[in-house]
Amino acid sequence: MYRKYSSGIIEVVTGPMFSGKTEELIKRITVLSYSEIPTLIVKPVIDNRFSHNEIFSRNGRSIKCYSVDTVDDIKELFRQQNYKALVIDEAQFFDESLIDFVEELAVKGIRVIACGLDQDFRRKPFKIIANLMAIADQVTKLKAVCLSCKNAASCSFRTSLSQETIEIGDTNKYEARCRLCHQNGLNHQKNKKIS
Ligand code: ADP
Ligand code: MG
Ligand code: ZN
Repeated sequence: MYRKYSSGIIEVVTGPMFSGKTEELIKRITVLSYSEIPTLIVKPVIDNRFSHNEIFSRNGRSIKCYSVDTVDDIKELFRQQNYKALVIDEAQFFDESLIDFVEELAVKGIRVIACGLDQDFRRKPFKIIANLMAIADQVTKLKAVCLSCKNAASCSFRTSLSQETIEIGDTNKYEARCRLCHQNGLNHQKNKKIS
């Protein structure tokens, strides 16, 4: 077995909406705080579903964080204190410069935990999360419960008919679905538009 893990590791927590990604993130942040590891916690400002200065899980728990616009904002905040870990929620909303930054931090011995959606509402991968998963040391892919058939769900279904790739919403616009119920839903919406 390994002698020990190096401290600079990249972890990705991913899965569809409602799968408990933020729940898992909060659990990890709690462990980091017990370990007294100074941690910078950020989320993109675009995620305005809940309060701006906290990451929020639908299980009711939340933790204070910084809301930032860009990867440069994360870099700037990271420089301000002697952080040993970086935690990012909703990482799919950042641009791909995040990948080099995360890699750079890991080389310096910083622990990075990035959390985000692996697929959009059409089941197309978010490239940034796919790339982060590729360079990660550990990937946790969570599942939700499909609202249609109650089986395990890996997809986020958009119930509104908007075609924008990014549309912020919660249970008002999205539900967790398995692949089959997701595809059935897409077909149904397509037929509705044609008729
Ligand atoms: P994520 O960050 O992945 O969107 P959250 O941490 O905000 O997930 O929410 C996870 C919580 O959401 C679960 O603990 C559960 O209480 C609740 N929940 C609501 N809908 C579902 C669903 N369809 N499947 C699983 N959990 C759900
Ligand atoms: Mg979340
Ligand atoms: Zn289903």
